[in-house]
Amino acid sequence: MKITKINIYKLNVAMSQPIRVPLGVIDSARNVAVKITTESGLYGWGEASPFAPITGDSQESNYMTAQMLAKLIKGKDALATYARMKEIDAFTVGEPSIRSAFDMALYDVAAKAANMPLYRFLGGERREIRTDLTIGLQESVEETIKQAKNILDAGFNAIKLKVGRQGLADVAHVAAVRKLAGPNISIKMDSNQGWDYPTAVANIKAMASLNLEYSEQPIAVWDYDNMARLRDKVDLPICADESVFDHYDALKLVKLGAADYLNIKLGKAGGINTGLKINAIAEAAGAKCMIGCFAESRLGLSAAAHLAMARPNITFIDLDSCYHFKSDPVTGGVIFDNKIGGLLHLPDTVGHGAEIDITASGLEDNIQI
Ligand SMILES: [Mg+2]
Repeated sequence: MKITKINIYKLNVAMSQPIRVPLGVIDSARNVAVKITTESGLYGWGEASPFAPITGDSQESNYMTAQMLAKLIKGKDALATYARMKEIDAFTVGEPSIRSAFDMALYDVAAKAANMPLYRFLGGERREIRTDLTIGLQESVEETIKQAKNILDAGFNAIKLKVGRQGLADVAHVAAVRKLAGPNISIKMDSNQGWDYPTAVANIKAMASLNLEYSEQPIAVWDYDNMARLRDKVDLPICADESVFDHYDALKLVKLGAADYLNIKLGKAGGINTGLKINAIAEAAGAKCMIGCFAESRLGLSAAAHLAMARPNITFIDLDSCYHFKSDPVTGGVIFDNKIGGLLHLPDTVGHGAEIDITASGLEDNIQI
């Protein structure tokens, strides 16, 4: 099924409140949307949500690279997903965000051609998937508590706290949330590399009684040796996020014994094709996966939710970016339950089901290749 046309758009969406993490502040989504159309009329949508401090790319670089990738695959078979992604991944080692947009558009086409929802096309069946909601770095413990209260009031059963402050300053924030939430709410913490090894050991030991789920990316992205040391030293599972982009990273991490969990983000992995490989390595090593996001709209989140539904080894769901969006430029796709906080519903429409509303404000600079 020949690819006949590729449309590339910039997609800008304002956020209701900026999210502060140790690596920077995310105050709006500056994404790129891609639509791949085939000779049969079937088309697929994908989305890139670059975050330079992690992915090394940007809306501008994604937008330019997308034009080159479009020329690379135009006229070729859209259904040869693996072959197309091999070409796309070989084109550049960088730009993982835009590679993931092409990947999810190709998977969308392939699942539609098979007349199946994407999770079924990937061999999965229905299961409950429920996301946590993230609290960014707040200045005061009072502000952290206020946000946690809102999340609990909305019915969520899992909270992710951004940590990574100096010294032991995080302990009071995490302890206050545990006290407020009671024993039955899942609490994860994500340092985004904000600690060094001794600070990570001290913090995790100081939080030993708080019944946390895991410590995500406690130390620097490149510091695999200390991740392994830390995992030996503390009783809390260690989750790798920025340290794992692709299956090569996943293999290194599990061989070194540096992580209990691997965080798959389509924007790091370059899409579902590599996300599946990361999960396969994790399964072989007895490690669980989580699925995370950057600042994707419900389009990118829909593709990620289908992957999560298709692979029960993806245990932890962190697909919450659109909760912070001021507007929703997407039609179809994953639905966020408005009564049971964090519960995701995937309609049984074919593909990943999500499309950008081409009349949405913030959709700009359409280029057609
Ligand atoms: Mg993370």
